[in-house]
Amino acid sequence: MGAKQYQIRQLQAACLRLDEKELARAGNEIINSLRGLYLSKKEDFEEGDIKTILNCKNYIAAAEDLLLELEDFSFIQDQQDVNNITARLLQYSNLNPESVISRRIRKEIRELESKRPSLPTGQANARKQKLKAATRTLDAHAPKCGHRGCESSMTLREGNGEYFWGCRSFPECLGKRRLTSAELALLPD
Ligand SMILES: [Zn+2]
Repeated sequence: MGAKQYQIRQLQAACLRLDEKELARAGNEIINSLRGLYLSKKEDFEEGDIKTILNCKNYIAAAEDLLLELEDFSFIQDQQDVNNITARLLQYSNLNPESVISRRIRKEIRELESKRPSLPTGQANARKQKLKAATRTLDAHAPKCGHRGCESSMTLREGNGEYFWGCRSFPECLGKRRLTSAELALLPD
């Protein structure tokens, strides 16, 4: 077996058998070495070889993403976070279902899913995020006050569960204005 064929086999075996940390290191090493072979003897490489190498390369990139993903685990706060992270993990595990990494990912997913019922749903958090984004957008387009010739701009304020525009110079200026229906539509229910 030629050096090229041998290294491609090594690469495929690495994708199947190594965990993501070992793969990120060893897999990239083999790919670099194959790149060297390719540059010195392009005619040895068939279309199928290139395809196999590129598939492995994508798989290694996914493993590196997974490493970052695993660091995120400590930031999981609610069910929405669990849903987002398991969706991404499932994508990785489907790339090479028989591999060591995929088996481990499926185990992580089972653990996450068993943890999910004990976490808050994430609706309160999603609402808070939406409100924050809406406040930023609205304040960036806040109207001028104009109350008794006031030159200040207004800002989004809340009182008794209602949102309204209030003058930034409050309490010196008592300028107040209703939000338009388009502005109200930006806010969470
Ligand atoms: Zn004012």
